[in-house]
Order: sequence, then structure tokens, then C-alpha cells
Amino acid sequence: MNPKIQVIKGDITKIKADAIVNAANTSLMGGGGVDGAIHRVGGPAILDDCRKIVARQGGCKTGQAVITTGGKLPAKYVIHTVGPVYNGGKGDVAELLRSCYRNSLALAAENGCKTIAFPNISTGIYGYPKAKAAEIAVNAVKTFLNQNEAIETVTFVCFDNENYTFIEEQLKLEF
Ligand code: ADP
Repeated sequence: MNPKIQVIKGDITKIKADAIVNAANTSLMGGGGVDGAIHRVGGPAILDDCRKIVARQGGCKTGQAVITTGGKLPAKYVIHTVGPVYNGGKGDVAELLRSCYRNSLALAAENGCKTIAFPNISTGIYGYPKAKAAEIAVNAVKTFLNQNEAIETVTFVCFDNENYTFIEEQLKLEF
């Protein structure tokens, strides 16, 4: 089956996929934005799993990803990845953002997931410019799907019109 990439506008906590991705922070202890929404809707089982990961490996580094139950969410798993803080674009923010997508997809594939949904990582509180983030997100997903056959459908779930438009534009480009 040809892998499919799609974009929708909406709330990622409502998505029934094998895995949804959370734009978490390094503490894995919850936060605002999409992180807050996922823990609120998914319930305490997600935080319980996060605590076990923290006890084992002390949180999650920027660009890395970890997996927990989806709790009460329609998704089976939540993959928590930590996007870079944009901070004027200093340092290797682009490579770190690319790593978030790549590592989340790899972790999904390792756990037998065929469908995965992403929010627009780092484009909220972490301040990554949405157009730049969309280019990185779509390129990272296309690159992964070209190299790995496990994932069948990737859905970008955009909370706002700007992100939706930028992702849609990127998806129209040849790769
Ligand atoms: P970050 O700290 O990585 O910037 P945020 O949660 O602040 O994370 O924002 C990431 C993106 O997720 C933003 O574009 C924000 O609008 C979006 N977002 C917030 N809530 C939801 C939700 N329930 N579903 C999907 N996207 C969401």
C-alpha cells in the first residue's frame, strides 16, 4: 500500500490513530497547549507511564521521543516528543525539529503502528515560525516514508488555519 500523508484541521485528542504525537517538554510532566489537552482528555494513565520513563531515563531530550499508553484517548499510544525552543533560530533547531518527526515515526513503526497523527510541533509556546516548521515537518515525514514501509498513514492535525495552509502548500510540492 502506498503511504498516505494528509492534513486536517482539528483537535488531535479526537483522532483515532494507532498513535498520536504530543509536543511535550523535557520533564514529561505535562504542560500547556497540546500537551495539556492530551493529558486532560487521556487521563492519569498517561502521566503514570511518563513517571516510569522519568524514573528510568530522567525525562526526554529535545529531538527525542518516548511512547506511553493513549489512556482514555481514541488513539492506542501517545508518542511524546520534545521540540526545540525556536529562540531566534540559533543553534541546530531545524535538525532537532526534523529529529522529532523522524524519531516519532521510528518509535511508532517499532511498536507496530500503521497510522500516526502529528500536531505542529514547536509552533505554539516554543515559537518556531510556522512556514519553516511546515517545510521541515513535511520533508521529514516524506523522507521517512520513502525509507520505511511500516507506516501507512500520517495525518497532520492543525489547530489553526495558518499551520493548515502551510502544511497543505508543502504537501502539494513534488518530493
Ligand atoms: P510547543 O511547545 O511544541 O510549541 P504547543 O502545544 O504550544 O507546543 O503548540 C504546538 C502546536 O499544537 C500549536 O500549533 C498549537 O496551536 C497546537 N495545538 C494546541 N492544542 C492542540 C490540540 N488539541 N490539537 C492539535 N493541535 C493543538
